[in-house]
Formats: sequence, C-alpha cells, structure tokens
Amino acid sequence: MKKTLIVFLGLLVIVVIGRTSLKLPAVQDKLLEIGTSRIAERGAVPFPKSESLRVYVCGSASPLGMGQAQACIAVITPEHFYLIDSGAGSTDNISRLNLPMSKLDGLLLTHFHSDHIAEIYEVNLNSWVQGRPQPLTIYGPQGVDAVTDAVNAGYRLDRIYRTGHHGEELLPPQLGVLEHETIAPGVVLEDGDLKITAYVGEHPPIHPAVGYRFDYRGRSVVISGDSNVTDETLKIVDGADLLLHDALSLPTVSSLSKALGAAGQSRQSKIVSDVMDYHASAESLIELGEESNVDMVAFYHLVPVPPTSLLKNVFMRGAPDNFLLTEDLMWFELPIDSDEIFVNRP
Ligand SMILES: [Zn+2]
Ligand SMILES: [Zn+2]
Repeated sequence: MKKTLIVFLGLLVIVVIGRTSLKLPAVQDKLLEIGTSRIAERGAVPFPKSESLRVYVCGSASPLGMGQAQACIAVITPEHFYLIDSGAGSTDNISRLNLPMSKLDGLLLTHFHSDHIAEIYEVNLNSWVQGRPQPLTIYGPQGVDAVTDAVNAGYRLDRIYRTGHHGEELLPPQLGVLEHETIAPGVVLEDGDLKITAYVGEHPPIHPAVGYRFDYRGRSVVISGDSNVTDETLKIVDGADLLLHDALSLPTVSSLSKALGAAGQSRQSKIVSDVMDYHASAESLIELGEESNVDMVAFYHLVPVPPTSLLKNVFMRGAPDNFLLTEDLMWFELPIDSDEIFVNRP
C-alpha cells in the first residue's frame, strides 16, 4: 500500500513538473524546434511513387456534413494528379494526406453546387504556392467558364497581394489565374496512359451534371458526383474496378424529415425531403451492384454523414461485402497488373 502511494506521488510530481515546465520559454523553444522540424521533414519527403492507380477521399460529405469535408476525390498515378470537385474543408484534407499539389494537373468539376466548388480558389492558391509550373485548368460541363471567371475576378486582389508580398519569381502572376475548359460527355482527355471519360448524371434541375471514369493501365475508377442511378451509370461502370458514388440513406433522411415536420420546423423538413429525389439511395446502388460487374462500391457524398455505428448500420442495410462507406482521408490502391483493391483507412 505504502509502495503504491509512493509510486502515485512520484507520478503526480512528474506530471506537475511536466506541466509547469511547458510554461518555461526555454522548454517551449526546444519543443517548437522539434515539432517544426518534424513538420518540415514531412513536407520535404517526396510523394511516394507506386505502380498503382490511387484514389484519395479528400471529402466524403454532402452539405449534411457532420464534421467531414464536402465532396472531393483525388486520382493519382505515377504520372498524373487530378482532383474531382473541391467542397468546403477538402483542401485541409489534401494537406493532411500530403498530396503533391505542385504536380496538380487539373480540377474536374461534376457540377456547380456549392458543396462541390467551395474551395476552387484554395486549391488554386495551394498548388500555386507549392510551385505548380502551369496555370490550373478547371474542367467542367457548360457553365464552367462563368464559375472560373467569377473565381478569378473575386480573388484578383488576393493574387496581387500574394505576388506583391512574395515576389514574382516565387509566385508568377500568370500562374495564379485559373483557366477553364468546357467538357462534353465522352472522352475528356487522354494524357499518356490515362483516359478520362465524362458521363451524364441525373441531378435535376442541374443539367448537365457529370461523373467521370478514369482508366489507367487496366485499372479503373468511376466517380459519380451527384446523381441518381441511371442507365448511364450502368454503362459507365461496366468492367470498372471501383465506383465511388454519392449515396443517400433513405431511412435516415425520411425519418429526419418527418421529425422536423413534427417539431414544427417545416422549412427544414421540406429541404431535407427535397434532397431525396436527386441523390442515389443506398438501395438503388445495391441494385446497381447486382446488375453490374463493378468490383467495389464505395459510398461518398454521404447524405447524411452517419456519425454513429447505428446510423452506419442503417446506411449499409442490405449491402454486400464489396460495399463500404468512405470517410475523409481514406484511400484506395489499385496496383497495375493485379485485380486487388487495397483500402487504407485513416
Ligand atoms: Zn449537387
Ligand atoms: Zn453535392
């Protein structure tokens, strides 16, 4: 008993001394030196190359977010880096994942709802600051010119301030101005071994809303943006390894809408019930999985993000083993010359 008391008092003294020492400038400076060195070393490590198609979830949420970033997916090969959408919070996740922003080849937008375009400029600024050698091109359906021009106009002064502060050599002004390219359904671009194909989604009244399929050396991923499941979805996933699809939990959303109505929150109830007709329900995606030969289906743009095990189970009701829920910072590795898909969780 006496020995236990002595050990306890010893630990208490260590904790008290430790806490007190954190108030001493000399201790703070030493810890700062160690911490900043670690951050700098991490940033200096080149992004690891591997003979794989890699897919990173930079944003798994819809506007019903619950602490996760909004829609954003990164597709990376040994030679390419494309982002699909840039919702709120996604650039922070890109930094956490240490993705090589100086090598960003383009940002592909699926449509122009705010939860897909909120951080266009953050992506631009981040990649510009990190040394991207050419202007960033924003690809998207009809309307991408107006969105890009508006971002360029809205942040004109920011670009002037940044270049004025850091100098033209570090931040060449012409590299801070976004370019745009309007895409049509079909092959959007072929870049070495990478082919990107756009297909039309169903997300009324937004038209067109598109999704994208990436094919790289025999591996493939489809990213839906916001859409119901349609015949176009069935066609584009044919032979695909991985489908990342926006997904809505009908039991959760209808229960929420009903509860809001009963509580007298009729505006909120209507808004929640309105979203049910333009996102793919988990049930419709399970049917798609049965009708198609896609290997893995990952739900993203979750409506809503399920914060508890119970709600996760409700979301995945009836889903087979090759279905999963994504979360921010999750990533998939599809090695070349293989059928494997490795799922890496944060
Ligand atoms: Zn949308
Ligand atoms: Zn959305």
